[in-house]
Amino acid sequence: GSTIGILGGGQLGRMLSVAASRLGFKSHIFEPSANPPAADVAHRVTTASYEDQDALKAFAETVDVITYEFENIPTSALDLLETLRPIRPGREALRISQDRLIEKAFLADLGLAIAPYADVTDSTSMTAAVEAIGAPSILKTRRFGYDGKGQARLKSAEDAAEALAEMNGAPAVLEGFVNFTCEISVIAARSADGQVSAFDPGQNVHRDGILHTTTVPAKVPAKLQMDAVLMAAKILNALDYVGVMGVEFFVTPQGLIINEIAPRVHNSGHWTQNGCVSCQFEQHIRAVAGWPLGDGQRHSDVVMENLIGNDMDRMPELMADPTCALHLYGKADVKPGRKMAHVNRITKG
Ligand code: ATP
Ligand code: MG
Ligand code: MG
Repeated sequence: GSTIGILGGGQLGRMLSVAASRLGFKSHIFEPSANPPAADVAHRVTTASYEDQDALKAFAETVDVITYEFENIPTSALDLLETLRPIRPGREALRISQDRLIEKAFLADLGLAIAPYADVTDSTSMTAAVEAIGAPSILKTRRFGYDGKGQARLKSAEDAAEALAEMNGAPAVLEGFVNFTCEISVIAARSADGQVSAFDPGQNVHRDGILHTTTVPAKVPAKLQMDAVLMAAKILNALDYVGVMGVEFFVTPQGLIINEIAPRVHNSGHWTQNGCVSCQFEQHIRAVAGWPLGDGQRHSDVVMENLIGNDMDRMPELMADPTCALHLYGKADVKPGRKMAHVNRITKG
């Protein structure tokens, strides 16, 4: 049988491994830290650093195709891996999504609406950015941000110096604050032969910068849901993309604004595990393996809730609730802000 190589062993890598296994594939995880969540379910795990070229080479030689659960893979590792096996989704999607500034330019070039932005490297460019964008606004590091980390909010222009200091010298972008009515995301898949399938948009609520719930169907007009799906498809086609992508949107009275894209399975797509015949993890494995896509039609209404840190105290009650499909990540220690599990509550089926 074929083996799927997965860079990253967190919960996304774990759920990709489960999906691969269900389709008869083996999975081999590459992960620097010991005992990652995916290690419990993968067929093989390599624990090594992305600097270790011998380990990367040995990993690649055991797999047929390489995919990943996170976008911040070091370039040197990708340069080696791509000489050995196909990397799906491809390098271009990674290059763009690793850097907010490049990502915004890419989306703007496609004619898609994004928030006004300006690049910031020092106090001179920060002053110019605040003049151009104004406040309220958000300063975000160009690279490595997730769960709202690496961001500083400006209530007024007076917050500029403090926000810049929070970047610790890292290059950043200043983004105009979008007064959104709600947030939605589209999880879309594209196969190697160019077939595109999008899941229904999910409506997302964040808490402290971390995704809290995703609800389907989203309570936004059908026309906007269709717009979101078409925008996502445009991005996948422009990149000749193979795999699953998450596209986050702000819904405003003037229409949709794209917040960001992620070239991988996405937390806001976890509802598909219990709302569709083929979930996002299966669609991703199908795509990277060169299979046709499965059926991503929604058959149930679902509310996905992340269980973060001490939310795990609610497990006894959730375990006893027959409307709740539980997905635990097997993480040993509970820490504040740590994603431990999620629950898909079927609200109508
Ligand atoms: P993720 O874990 O989704 O990758 P991230 O760290 O990349 O998160 P963003 O998605 O940029 O962060 O921002 C997190 C949340 O902060 C958004 O979902 C939204 O609620 C809010 N936010 C971000 N940018 C803006 C903006 N320009 N205007 C208004 N709210 C924003
Ligand atoms: Mg992000
Ligand atoms: Mg986000």
